Amino acid sequence: MKISIDQLSKIYPNGNRALNNIQLEIENGMFGLLGPNGAGKSSLMRILVTLMKPSEGKVTINEYDLVKNRKEIRKMLGYLPQDFRFFSQLKTYEFLDYAARLAGIKKSKLRANAVDKMLEEVGLFEARDRQANRLSGGMKRRLGIAQALINNPQIIVVDEPTTGLDPEERIRFRNLLSSISTNDVIIILSTHIVGDISSTCKNMALLNQGELAYSGSPDDLVAQAEGKVWLIKATESEYQEINEKYPVISNVPTSEGWEIQVVANEINGYNGHNIEPNLEHAYVYFMESRLNQWTAV
Ligand code: ADP
Repeated sequence: MKISIDQLSKIYPNGNRALNNIQLEIENGMFGLLGPNGAGKSSLMRILVTLMKPSEGKVTINEYDLVKNRKEIRKMLGYLPQDFRFFSQLKTYEFLDYAARLAGIKKSKLRANAVDKMLEEVGLFEARDRQANRLSGGMKRRLGIAQALINNPQIIVVDEPTTGLDPEERIRFRNLLSSISTNDVIIILSTHIVGDISSTCKNMALLNQGELAYSGSPDDLVAQAEGKVWLIKATESEYQEINEKYPVISNVPTSEGWEIQVVANEINGYNGHNIEPNLEHAYVYFMESRLNQWTAV
């Protein structure tokens, strides 16, 4: 599978430019789309799942054009929107059965098999008779992914998958996604949480204010922050000054003052040294450097 996005822009009727000239290729495997709120992630997701047309530009999925071949493309798609809701009253298996019918599995025997198999896969078989809207947050997300996967889609789009989940559920959900990223499948994970991306995604893009700020591997993004992340040992009096001067990633009180992690090109005069960057550091560095018009590389 291959998604090619060519000079894609989205301008809403009120004049908001949510996406500006996006140029991006997405290939098999897990792909992370990272960016702060308002970056344009949902707009891009909605275009990719054919719920909204682009204002300019073109998207092709394999040989299909996203606008001209909607029907063919919809057959390949599974989508878990950010604000996924259940119809009240339906039991878990009834809900999934309904989703399977919508996805075009017409024969009831086939559907029952597909539903059971999927419930098993997402760990909800035991909860099949429970009312879907009474499940826990984590279970609801898993039911959400189950409905997105019921028809074996080749492109799976998941918007803000871990919002509202506790850390344990977050890890479980992430593992579930990576277990389905087999050979000829693209999974796009849109998130503002850096931790959702680092461990699972082979490739990623960074969106900021509708612009593509970065595309490539998480490792290459991290490499760009090499030499830009500092651990400063600060006195109480330096503490405030540093907070005002630099983007601070963390600060820990010590017996002598503070240990502060910052991203910066240099830390003139303070008592500090470079530390190994991680994806969160790189993300902060990248966003800050754009905002402050530093040169990022
Ligand atoms: P994200 O998913 O990264 O938070 P969105 O795609 O939701 O970003 O939003 C990108 C920009 O487009 C924001 O400035 C947002 O206010 C704007 N926007 C989103 N939806 C609409 C809409 N229906 N009408 C007008 N502006 C919108």
